[in-house]
Amino acid sequence: MKDKNKLLRMLPKVDECLTRLEPFIQEHEIPLRIAKRAVQQSVEQLRSQLLNEAQVHIPESQTEWDEIFKSRIALLMDLNLKRVINGTGIVVHTNLGRSLLPDHTIRQLSMAGACYTNLEFNLETGKRGSRYSLVEDIICDLTGAEAALVVNNNAAAVLISLDTLARDREVIISRGQLVEIGGSFRIPDVMKKSGATLVEVGATNRTHLYDFERAISESTALLLRVHTSNFRIIGYTSQVSGEELVRLGNKYDLPVMEDLGSGSFTDLSKFGLPPEPTVQEVVKSGIDVITFSGDKLLGGPQSGIIVGKEKIISRIKSNPLNRALRIDKFTLASLESVLRDYYDPDAVLKKNQTLRMISDPPEIIKKRAQRFLRRTRSLIGDSCSLNLVSTTSRVGGGALPEYGLTSWAVELQPATTTVSRLEKDFRTLPVPVIGRIENERLLIDFRTVLDSEIPELCNELITYFS
Ligand SMILES: *Cc1c(COP(=O)(O)O)cnc(C)c1O
Repeated sequence: MKDKNKLLRMLPKVDECLTRLEPFIQEHEIPLRIAKRAVQQSVEQLRSQLLNEAQVHIPESQTEWDEIFKSRIALLMDLNLKRVINGTGIVVHTNLGRSLLPDHTIRQLSMAGACYTNLEFNLETGKRGSRYSLVEDIICDLTGAEAALVVNNNAAAVLISLDTLARDREVIISRGQLVEIGGSFRIPDVMKKSGATLVEVGATNRTHLYDFERAISESTALLLRVHTSNFRIIGYTSQVSGEELVRLGNKYDLPVMEDLGSGSFTDLSKFGLPPEPTVQEVVKSGIDVITFSGDKLLGGPQSGIIVGKEKIISRIKSNPLNRALRIDKFTLASLESVLRDYYDPDAVLKKNQTLRMISDPPEIIKKRAQRFLRRTRSLIGDSCSLNLVSTTSRVGGGALPEYGLTSWAVELQPATTTVSRLEKDFRTLPVPVIGRIENERLLIDFRTVLDSEIPELCNELITYFS
């Protein structure tokens, strides 16, 4: 303990260090606040190590301390939002930013940032315009809906729809569809916020039309279906179809809403995926209001799209919440561009990054992985064994949870360190590489690695292992 006190007193003084670093700070134009925080954090880290750990390396010279300070300054000067290489194989990875936008969409995004636009200005009349008009017709065209509205995300789309249609009244939903999706979005909680009361009917595994019908009362405002995106109830099950619910709604003059979650415009069963109703099909089934995310299967920017009957959508549009949930110019710019690609159902499969990744055949992914191996194997083969393995990727975003896409990965097994250490180190590379650990190996799934990222990925790993 005595030793420790002595060591603690030997820790450098922040102000003295800053004075010594002054030429460096000036030369690199480091904000003083950042330099100070870097020095404080470095000294503090060592202090806590001294107090809590048995073996601590104490820098022996000012030069050694300065190196520590400089690397922490570099860390703090780096932008917090960083590009990463997604080697998880999860295409719509919510934690890694969900969908990627194609180049022509990125150009439209930077235009919207760099220039003034007609965001809310009607160029024909010279009067104020509506920002939503920029995408509404396109959405209606593509889905067959009478009207459309876009808000910040699908959670907001559900909230504003329920608030408009069912505030202080009752919403009937099947017990098997009371979902919680990631990030603590729970249908019952959103209902509460909207001021609607939830009436759960049926059993977890089975709900019948008569369950809905019996629950209808004077206070009923809405019949709701929710896509059980991220789980499946299997076995002895039954849910009421959209069509049945629409017929019931018509009988009692009640609107029917469906939260589709990751709504798709494309029939993904042609890539061998399990059939899921497209937004167009749900519109056709007569559902009055449909909500879905713009950045899940649609492959656009974060947004929540509401489509449906004109009479209902116009009520939602005039809800004051709409002002609070409105999308910004970047969302509009990129959403319009992504939506327009859907006019050509074949071309969109190549242009849309999300659809492209989901539909990439295993042979293409295998070739990508092999390209990586050819460039790296001879250079890092001694420090780490690299093997091409067949694996299973996921769509992600709560879509088709139980469905695996056949894919190819490179499996890494380091010779001198642990797999968990490797996984951690890869996260701190200049461009962090996010893989997944499976059976004591680190996997990089090449479904979600872009062709353009391969040279960089190779160089990073070659440097790391050299
Ligand atoms: C993803 C999802 C949401 C939330 O959508 P966000 O765009 O993430 O807000 C709501 N409901 C369902 C069924 C979903 O799958």
